[in-house]
Amino acid sequence: MTASPTATPTVASDRLLSLARPQARGLPDYNAGLSPTVVRQRYHLPPEQPLACLASNENPFGPSPAVARVLAELALSGEISRYPDARCSALRAAIAQGLNVAPERLVFGNGSEDLLKLLCEVFLQPGDRVLTQRPAFGLHEIYPRMMGADLELLDLTEAMAFDVDAWCAALARGPKLAFVPNPSNPVGCAFDRAAMTRLLAATPDHTVLVVDEAYYEYARLQANYPEVLELLQARHGPWIVLRTFSKAWGLAGLRVGYGVARDAGLVALLDKVRSPFNVNHVAQCAALAAWNDSVHMQASVARTVQLREALAARLRARAQPGQPGHPFAGLRIAPSAANFLFLDLGRPSAPVAEALLARGVIVKPWKEPGFTNCLRVSIGSEDDNLRFVQALVQVVTQALDATVEPTHGHAQTA
Ligand SMILES: *Cc1c(COP(=O)(O)O)cnc(C)c1O
Repeated sequence: MTASPTATPTVASDRLLSLARPQARGLPDYNAGLSPTVVRQRYHLPPEQPLACLASNENPFGPSPAVARVLAELALSGEISRYPDARCSALRAAIAQGLNVAPERLVFGNGSEDLLKLLCEVFLQPGDRVLTQRPAFGLHEIYPRMMGADLELLDLTEAMAFDVDAWCAALARGPKLAFVPNPSNPVGCAFDRAAMTRLLAATPDHTVLVVDEAYYEYARLQANYPEVLELLQARHGPWIVLRTFSKAWGLAGLRVGYGVARDAGLVALLDKVRSPFNVNHVAQCAALAAWNDSVHMQASVARTVQLREALAARLRARAQPGQPGHPFAGLRIAPSAANFLFLDLGRPSAPVAEALLARGVIVKPWKEPGFTNCLRVSIGSEDDNLRFVQALVQVVTQALDATVEPTHGHAQTA
């Protein structure tokens, strides 16, 4: 489906708004970005021009080929006229075995964002305090606000890393729930083993500790990245670790995430508010096929990490100081343990991102006050990343001095 250009603005009338819960009414829209189809139409990009879709941290290498085989079989099987298995039994057994945890300690979601929502619905009441970082993953903020909770957002250090002391102090104050992203989205910074050990020691037993490891498979290639499931064994209070098939496993379009909870009791609570058939049958079968081919996943993760370092190096080389009026003079790159880079361009990122769209490169500019110079670029294929760098060079060069000839590369100017 493509958006109709004549669609009426989607703003509710005052009367309708007055019927809504105040917490729902006041929520910001999730910034999901533009789809490739819309970008192609809006910027009149010809079908032969490849787009670099680098806004949503998707896996450019896709899932295991075993997934395609399973999907083809399912199309002919007749199974999709049946409701899915509400317990995800086959997938549950496989993941339980792989992680060496009891199957009852697993909970499955329509993406791990589904699980973020269930956690908020189970635990949060108006006035409860929720802790996370700034800039936050959008849903770590939106779902608590939906329940009327108050958010405490912790700032990064100057080096765009987690402020471990601030985290420990804030956790010690005992928020009702804490979203600990490791690594962070959008920044990419991670808590190492020593920092995570301190965090866990600081957290009281009455805090619901949620460790969001959406990028675990990438981050575990970093030195000193903690195996948090091991560290958490010593914790008495409630905790859950969230992971997803959307990133490293290449299944963002099918929506499967899972949580490993401290105990089956926490899973039973989440099950009370979980929509029973939240993970569809096709998604369950695909996730199982992907899980059984971890070799494919590991190869794509290793390649992505290599490409991330190459992209960072290429950008850093462009940002060498010494040239007056150098287009990248203000560029800063946050250290990343994930499949994206968070860049501070030293100038407003929204117009840059807009100009990149016209060149077929889709990235995510940050709109939050304090971060409007930042954008997040996902690591794509080698060609995608090259297109990004070339288009970025063109855009910032032109913005600086309209007389400077743009570099010519793969990317066409619109
Ligand atoms: C991508 C992401 C998720 C959710 O992904 P799903 O597609 O819903 O599984 C959750 N948390 C963070 C921090 C993410 O970046």
